[in-house]
Amino acid sequence: MRVTQAYRFCLDPTPAQRRRLASHAGAARFASNWGLAYVKACLKARAWERRILGAAVTEVPWSLAALRREWNADKDRVAPWWAENSKEAYSAGLAALADGLGAFSDSRAGRRKGRRVGFPRRKRRGRSRESFRYTTGSFGVSSRTRVQLPRIGHVRTHEPTVKLARKLEAGQARILSATVSREAGRWHCSFCCRVERSDPAPRRPAQAVGVDVGVRHLAVLSSGERVANPRALGRAGRRLRRLQRRADRQRRAANPGCFDERGRAIPGRRPATRSARLRATERRIARVYARARNLPRAALCKLSTELASTYGTVVVERLNAAGLCRAGNRGLRRAIHDASMAELRRQLAYKCAWRGGALVEAPTLFPSSKTCSGCGAAKAKLSLSERTYRCEACELVIDRDLNAARNLAALASVVAASGAETENARSQTPVRPGAAGLGVDREAGGARVARETGTAFERSEAA
Ligand SMILES: [Zn+2]
Repeated sequence: MRVTQAYRFCLDPTPAQRRRLASHAGAARFASNWGLAYVKACLKARAWERRILGAAVTEVPWSLAALRREWNADKDRVAPWWAENSKEAYSAGLAALADGLGAFSDSRAGRRKGRRVGFPRRKRRGRSRESFRYTTGSFGVSSRTRVQLPRIGHVRTHEPTVKLARKLEAGQARILSATVSREAGRWHCSFCCRVERSDPAPRRPAQAVGVDVGVRHLAVLSSGERVANPRALGRAGRRLRRLQRRADRQRRAANPGCFDERGRAIPGRRPATRSARLRATERRIARVYARARNLPRAALCKLSTELASTYGTVVVERLNAAGLCRAGNRGLRRAIHDASMAELRRQLAYKCAWRGGALVEAPTLFPSSKTCSGCGAAKAKLSLSERTYRCEACELVIDRDLNAARNLAALASVVAASGAETENARSQTPVRPGAAGLGVDREAGGARVARETGTAFERSEAA
């Protein structure tokens, strides 16, 4: 089976390479902002033409091709220094803008699911994700410890590139693109590759497993197995609280006008001034968060491989993306839970597909913890502090997380009965949401089969 797979490496650039990386990310941001301003000017011109002339004639460069054309015509004037960076960096910025414009118009026309997408916004320095991408040129793995990036050089990788290098040497992989990005101060390079894979089928193809990603445990399986959290998380919480107290003090010191004499925030006044010391503390907080989010990654990787190679069907909760965005102030543990959930789901999506298994996502608001896994009776309320589920109908007493995992596992038979799973297993392609034959109304909260998203997996096809 040939799949699209990402190989991601953490980089250890030299100071000079670090400067060039930042310059390229800045170039992508510049091009994106330039394009956005251009599009806005065109829209304004069209509005004026419609009002005065009765018909709009100005073309708006909405696609990547059109944006690139305009950029190439204008770059000598707006960015005479453009040759300092690879032209791929500017292209990447324009591509991101074109994606944003496309998502906006699709969302407005009802062609796009999920939350409404707003009009693309200006990317501010230090406030937006720094990244750029190569799609053409001589980039790749140059040795077991280095990657080659045009105009930046041979950059040392933090971990060996052996896995990908071997595949490339054997002709089993081809690199399509390289995305370079900075996350909490560290640069990473992610190679998007076409890879030839042959993974054995799951050991128990007829069996389904439910996975409850918890806050206390990393995960509880419907089989009764518990996967522990990495231990360093507790320390991260203490460090984070200390840093947040410090950030609060620094914010108060920098914005004396926003707090009254008793130290309470005055409504309507935003403490917008950020001192250099406050910014440094904020960077440290971001690093603690990033580390805490990354910690469970290795454990999740092991877990997802184990699940995908054992069970024919894996059922997970559906992550509420809207809730995820608002999770900000609900604390570190919650943030880690949501990140773990998203990461596990992302990994399972491709690992299950590689082995011909199915990944099923429970519908949004599926009451996995409030329903009794013994008799199906549902409770109206179950507080988070109740660790044990006690059913009033059948007197079942069971661990809360295990109960949830069993309810998830039971969902598999609902999907199997509708025929989606068999289709999936045969074609080795994850069933897309809304696939014909699911036989459940998704709006009413029916089961849904996960769609692959994220960078690691795009699509698979029978070789
Ligand atoms: Zn019951």
